[in-house]
Amino acid sequence: MPCSPDMTGAASDAHAEPPDAAAWLRLPPGQRNWALFLDVDGTLVGPSEPPEAARIAPQLHPVFRTLMAATDGAVALVSGRAISSLDQVFAPFVLPAAGQHGMERRTSRGELIQEPVDRTILDALIAHLTRYVATRPGLEIDIKNISVGLDYRLAPAYAAEAADFFQDLIDREAPGFHVQRGKTISEARLLSATKGRAIEAFMAESPFCNRVPVFLGDDLPDEDGFVTTNRLGGVSVRVGADPVTTAAQWRIDSIAEVHDWLKNLAATIGDKAQPAP
Ligand SMILES: [Mg+2]
Repeated sequence: MPCSPDMTGAASDAHAEPPDAAAWLRLPPGQRNWALFLDVDGTLVGPSEPPEAARIAPQLHPVFRTLMAATDGAVALVSGRAISSLDQVFAPFVLPAAGQHGMERRTSRGELIQEPVDRTILDALIAHLTRYVATRPGLEIDIKNISVGLDYRLAPAYAAEAADFFQDLIDREAPGFHVQRGKTISEARLLSATKGRAIEAFMAESPFCNRVPVFLGDDLPDEDGFVTTNRLGGVSVRVGADPVTTAAQWRIDSIAEVHDWLKNLAATIGDKAQPAP
């Protein structure tokens, strides 16, 4: 459902917390007019082998139920994973989601919107990558339905070479695509799709519209999501204690602290919410 960009309320200034307090305590106090946008890997879940085995902590199930009830369902995942993978990670929840860095999006009404992708380009990329990884133990191809990545998390010695190979491959074989680099992976993403655009699309629809966007992410693909969130007057939060240049306004040091912050947020804004079904 479309709606006007007339946002009610804006992010508050930081609390004056002591400098040694946990970073999440310095974030603006939670509001029921927030719309939550959450990256997944490195933000809500840690590394797992294989990555398909990742699951959100069961202790977060009641937290998500409360947050969805308190925000009228304005909780969405914004991830590099395919939406089908997100559903496995978040079972039993089926949340609004942007997958593959915004190349696909499932609205709050369950409508699936996918960017059109040239299958012959994807197949050619997969063929090149298959030959490349065959002689480099540990490198993996991450084949998704409308994207592909080169994953070097298990082969850090090849990381620099693999990233260069992937960049050259995309430049040469995949017009219209861009290399989305992450900490341990390079992925092919359509130039027309970003996490920021996915957040913007959600914010034009119910139940997200007229809310304050709050986006948490930990990696390079999240940066344009931070920029979009800032432009919309929202709250952008980078997860991780490592010193990096980021567009995010706020910081949470670790996944464990994100969990603490979410529990606290649910307790803060959930008290007037309808009981979860
Ligand atoms: Mg991440």
